[in-house]
Amino acid sequence: MTQIYNFSSGPAMLPVEVLRRAEQELTNWHGLGTSVMEISHRSKEFLKVAEEAEQDLRDLLKIPANYKVLFCHGGARAQFAAVPGNLLGEATTADYVDGGYWAHSAIKEAEKYCTPRTLDVKTTRDGKRAILPMSQWDLSSDAAYVHYCPNETIDGIAIDEQPDFGDKIVVADLSSTILSRPLDISRYGVIYAGAQKNIGPAGLTIVIVRDDLLGKARQSVPSILDYQVLAENDSMFNTPPTFAWYLSGLVFKWLKEKGGVGEIDKINQAKADLLYGLIDQNPFYRNDVAVENRSRMNVPFQLADAALDALFLEESFKAGLHALKGHRVVGGMRASIYNAMPLEGVKALTDFMADFARRHG
Ligand code: PMP
Repeated sequence: MTQIYNFSSGPAMLPVEVLRRAEQELTNWHGLGTSVMEISHRSKEFLKVAEEAEQDLRDLLKIPANYKVLFCHGGARAQFAAVPGNLLGEATTADYVDGGYWAHSAIKEAEKYCTPRTLDVKTTRDGKRAILPMSQWDLSSDAAYVHYCPNETIDGIAIDEQPDFGDKIVVADLSSTILSRPLDISRYGVIYAGAQKNIGPAGLTIVIVRDDLLGKARQSVPSILDYQVLAENDSMFNTPPTFAWYLSGLVFKWLKEKGGVGEIDKINQAKADLLYGLIDQNPFYRNDVAVENRSRMNVPFQLADAALDALFLEESFKAGLHALKGHRVVGGMRASIYNAMPLEGVKALTDFMADFARRHG
């Protein structure tokens, strides 16, 4: 059978070792004669899974002790509402950095709760899409917090600069970049990420919140989005997505075995270098993001002749390279190359792309 490489943006590829392990223990988990999906979230067996997953994530990201880790429902979009609900307090505005599709979507949701101040940081550099450096972000003094998205999954734009805004509360949507490189958590007030890219299956959302920000939720915030309620109940205020939590725990162990975030960072860099290298060298392909803002996780690219898009997708699929169609709002192609994508997968893609260009260029 052809080796399949799945370039989906999310739900995305999971490490095959993790899937095999889950398969092996699916119907008889830890000798219980049942699956992990079918036991109580309050059983001592599941509590161990939950605690280990949290500890492994803390180890991987070096999360300081004064941060809570919450295992939530609702995807990143629920956090678009939870963030203003938990952090605004009496304030009526927050700074929202608009660098692309998802940051913009967060602004639209925040408009229900406050008057967000939008900072449009999109610019061009040498004719390519880019983001203004953080030193040029015009933050306001009365904002309750500043929200931004360091990796725009659809636009393929990344803000790799680390925030340094004094005592401002920085909130970041890390859905498509968490665990892909080391991160200084102490620079952030709240970090959130939907699981379905670099963590595990859809259904789980991780929130990492500094503990002094707990207990400030507005009265109207639903309890399941209230960080204080979730923290007090060890993320079990209601039934958590237990299978997603368990599988994410296996992914964290897999990542630790691979050498952790520092090691995967190097592999991610090598993968991105290989793919952007091919795109830049081969006139058949084009990426229109300025080099400093190129995403290492989501690589959008266009063919010189868009009329060949359908054929490219058909042939690449036959070659075992799946889910390369670009997002409907931007078109073209997109290769998502999260942690679980091995270097060989990107090599297979660049070999295919070079061959396709030779045959059709
Ligand atoms: N933020 C980013 C950066 C995303 O990539 C996505 C999903 N692709 C979302 C938010 C929305 O996530 P969810 O579907 O989990 O609500």
